[in-house]
Amino acid sequence: MLSRTRFALLSAATMLASVAQAAPTVSRLTPPSELFASGNAAPVIARFLPGQRFDMQATLRPDGEDKRIVSAQFSIDGKAQSLPVALRDCAEGCLRTVPKNAAIATLRAIATEKPGLHEFSVSAIQSDGQTVVAGGNFEIVPFMPGGQKIRNIIIMLGDGMGAAQRTAARIVASGYAQGKAIKPLSMDTFPVTGMVKTSSLNSIVTDSSPGMTSYVSGNKNNNNEEGVFQDDTTDPFDNPRIEYLSEYLHRTQGKALGVVTTADVFDATPAGNAVHTSNRGAGAGIVDQFLDDRQLTGLSVLMGGGRKWFLPAGVPGSARSEASDYAFSATDAHTADIVRRWGAAPGARDTQRDLIADFQSAGFAYAASKADLDAASGKADKLLGLFAYSNMNVAPVDQMASKAIGVLRKSRKGFVLMVEGASIDKQAHNMDTERWMLDTIEFDRAIKVAQDFARENGDTLVIVTADHECSGAALIGGSRLTDAKLVEAAAKGGKDGLRDPVVGIYEQAGFPRYRIAADGYPETTDIDYRLLVGYGANADRYEDWRTNARPVQDSQQPFVKKEPLSTYPATPADRDKDGKFMITGQVPGESAVHTATDIPLSAFGPGAYSFTGVLDNTDVFFKLAQAAVRGVLAPEGLFARSPKAKK
Ligand SMILES: [Zn+2]
Repeated sequence: MLSRTRFALLSAATMLASVAQAAPTVSRLTPPSELFASGNAAPVIARFLPGQRFDMQATLRPDGEDKRIVSAQFSIDGKAQSLPVALRDCAEGCLRTVPKNAAIATLRAIATEKPGLHEFSVSAIQSDGQTVVAGGNFEIVPFMPGGQKIRNIIIMLGDGMGAAQRTAARIVASGYAQGKAIKPLSMDTFPVTGMVKTSSLNSIVTDSSPGMTSYVSGNKNNNNEEGVFQDDTTDPFDNPRIEYLSEYLHRTQGKALGVVTTADVFDATPAGNAVHTSNRGAGAGIVDQFLDDRQLTGLSVLMGGGRKWFLPAGVPGSARSEASDYAFSATDAHTADIVRRWGAAPGARDTQRDLIADFQSAGFAYAASKADLDAASGKADKLLGLFAYSNMNVAPVDQMASKAIGVLRKSRKGFVLMVEGASIDKQAHNMDTERWMLDTIEFDRAIKVAQDFARENGDTLVIVTADHECSGAALIGGSRLTDAKLVEAAAKGGKDGLRDPVVGIYEQAGFPRYRIAADGYPETTDIDYRLLVGYGANADRYEDWRTNARPVQDSQQPFVKKEPLSTYPATPADRDKDGKFMITGQVPGESAVHTATDIPLSAFGPGAYSFTGVLDNTDVFFKLAQAAVRGVLAPEGLFARSPKAKK
């Protein structure tokens, strides 16, 4: 909403500008702030820890084609920064929305120790001597004196795991009696739960990149961007960086990092713990950076799918390409400073790189199968596990979590571990109800592994959360039919066959009861009187309510055109057509989408109490860092006045 005061300020500024001579302008100022964007000094700003590193950047536009920007300087709280500013001209490599004679000024890897609100500014001089100054603000969030310092942080990230996904897994895995769950999920036994607001920097609906990085950088990123702020260049690896939790805790404490996923390891959630890029799809560069910047992140365990990026180009299944790789220039200060100031690897466009061999040379044991993993994990103190060419189809995430903890617990200074249950999201996109239910149950077993470790260990904080909800899943009721009758209903088809006589609402739903086999999973998901799920963010789909015999094709797989993948339905709309019960989607395309709905976060271990209430996703970062750096806050601290108020 445009307030009256702000409107007045803007009008005054516009008048001044029209009176004054034309002058160079600043079209982007990073870190982003409302003070720069709208003139509002609202508290919606970038926040950092004391000493957490970040880049400052400004896009500077001369007032005429014959002019250029000759110098620029950044100041914080009125004090000019003495480090030299890299000034990159936009003759090449900038977005088309930026004029060719624009310049991008960057100051890399700066940090501020002093807590509180800071104003910063950029000032620039144009070739004719005219100048421009623009300002923004950011906040340094203070540490508070705390109690026990936690040694290990485990983030259990159920991708797309909203409240409905958690409830469905509980109903299927445990069953209800007399209105109560017979056995809670492991995540249900965490003592503290809060709600998380998941918006990204540029949308109420986030994708997994900023969804993850908000938890581990304390800042909002644009969709598709990981550990960086947006810029005006086309290079996806040169954006202004924000130091990750892994990097901060490795640099200041020597903690190790573990990243475990059931997705391809280049995917947004795993990469959003260690890799800085504005393009979540830049696969070769992303996997290279995992290894090459391990001295920044402390990366010691990387497990999941994604072998296709690690194989030299030309090897069957390889997806390495120059187009998705990166190389920082040694001569252009704009990217050379990423190497010089951050200590990042220069990178190389190396399609022939054998990245598995390079991991091994760096001391990582390599596992390509469960047998390898069992053999390697006992002795290894660094571990790379790649169990599929891209996303894993069968994903024993609890076993991976257990092996990862086995390796990381050897780290003398503790560790940060992120474990992602990725298929919950991927199958929710496909509206493949039974698959995401089973994946959520499977993920809960990995949560138990983390919880057991934390319980025995005493200095580990575990949080279970999601990056966002996916599909707008809702538990609408239960089937009124046996499975055999449901097959007959599909033969009749349409609403008259598959909706009106099937969907049991309110008391007609009763309590669906799945028979659980010895392995902890349902004997079958095609039970009589089954749980029914509707979708609020769905594409058009046909529904017959029965378990889909095959998953939808995964376009990320290198061998998708070969059997058996080629026999899978290409899109969700290709399934269940026989029943002719089409549910019209509210969203375009062929998949369900993420939603902006808040998601639950549950916490276990010392420091868990600070994760209650309604939190912004970026708040989680500061709470994790507080517990690791200055110690956990007593629950009473939640009600104390902030240190700012005391002063
Ligand atoms: Zn998703």
